[in-house]
Amino acid sequence: MTDAPLPRPTPVPAFAPALEAIDVAKTFRPDSGGEPVEVLHGISLTVTPGEMVSVVGPSGSGKSTLLYCLAGLERPSRGGVRIGGVDTTALSARRLAQLRRSSIGFVFQSYNLIPSLTAAQNVALPARLARRAVAPDEVVEALAAVGLAELADAKPPSMSGGQQQRVAIARALFARPGILFADEPTGALDAAAGRVVLDLLRGVRDAGSAVLMVTHDLESAARADRAIVIRDGRVHQELAAPTAEQLFDAVLAAR
Ligand code: ADP
Ligand code: MG
Repeated sequence: MTDAPLPRPTPVPAFAPALEAIDVAKTFRPDSGGEPVEVLHGISLTVTPGEMVSVVGPSGSGKSTLLYCLAGLERPSRGGVRIGGVDTTALSARRLAQLRRSSIGFVFQSYNLIPSLTAAQNVALPARLARRAVAPDEVVEALAAVGLAELADAKPPSMSGGQQQRVAIARALFARPGILFADEPTGALDAAAGRVVLDLLRGVRDAGSAVLMVTHDLESAARADRAIVIRDGRVHQELAAPTAEQLFDAVLAAR
């Protein structure tokens, strides 16, 4: 079976958003039957290249579901999502997987590394699965960018949580995605390790990629350029250059 190249985005201006979501809704239908539950009720947002946006809100407000819908890990029930000008909701599963591999990075709270592989092997794995030739220098460079060149041959179980998350970031950035999604990236880390991870995410933004980070840590969220407060599956408030105190008040008001 031959695959044509990914559909080219319809001509987009140079300032095309890294991410554009329009009226995204998500309904879960229980396998066991029962009433469908709408968790996202129509969310619109835009993230521009070189911008870091945090998503905050009470537990259960739909932050992770939103992130998965935007990142192409879940199909929205309604609405449109464009990544670098490509409408992901119009893609087949196969094309969507291709786009994820080439243009989207993910970082999860739980790192999701393969414990039996070295740090270098973990970083190279997605590229290998995509049948792309990987030069060893490239991998060392990616690990050096997160300060872990000397741990290239170490395996995750021998590393601290902070080190594992940095390997996960190196892996996510290996394909040079236009946007990096992170779901509670510091959620399992102590404060010092969390700051290192946040510094790395800020560096991703400074290098010109977009970053969308879900977090309940308001100190972390305040380090983004903009914060979106979610309440019950809707955008409750948007704050530019927020302080942790402003976010605390906004999340409290969203309960
Ligand atoms: P948050 O990340 O803000 O804590 P989530 O997006 O994880 O919230 O969840 C929002 C709501 O959606 C919760 O009520 C949760 O139980 C529900 N939910 C999430 N995933 C599923 C699923 N796969 N099936 C059914 N309900 C789900
Ligand atoms: Mg969550």
